[in-house]
Amino acid sequence: MTYVITSPCIGEKDGSCVDVCPVDCIHPAPGEAEFEGVEMLYINPEECIDCGACEPACPVTAIFEESAVPEGEKQYIQINADYYKK
Ligand code: SF4
Ligand code: SF4
Repeated sequence: MTYVITSPCIGEKDGSCVDVCPVDCIHPAPGEAEFEGVEMLYINPEECIDCGACEPACPVTAIFEESAVPEGEKQYIQINADYYKK
């Protein structure tokens, strides 16, 4: 399982989640080359250790454990994974 970033992150991108992730699996982080060009941040499902630290850190409640992603946001499970397949 993994945690997933959903649509409330779009346009927000404040990066609070990046600061608390112990395995640095949320990208692009502020300061990284791709940061300015993306609409939101994404969690790498291959690297996320399911610690849950990022969930309460998000000011707009965009982050959910995979099985708890709300209806209407479930496409973001794939969208997060796809970002790392490029
Ligand atoms: S659950 Fe933990 S490891 Fe996964 S993205 Fe959030 S902070 Fe990082
Ligand atoms: S803390 Fe929330 S809004 Fe900020 S970058 Fe992370 S997921 Fe997006």
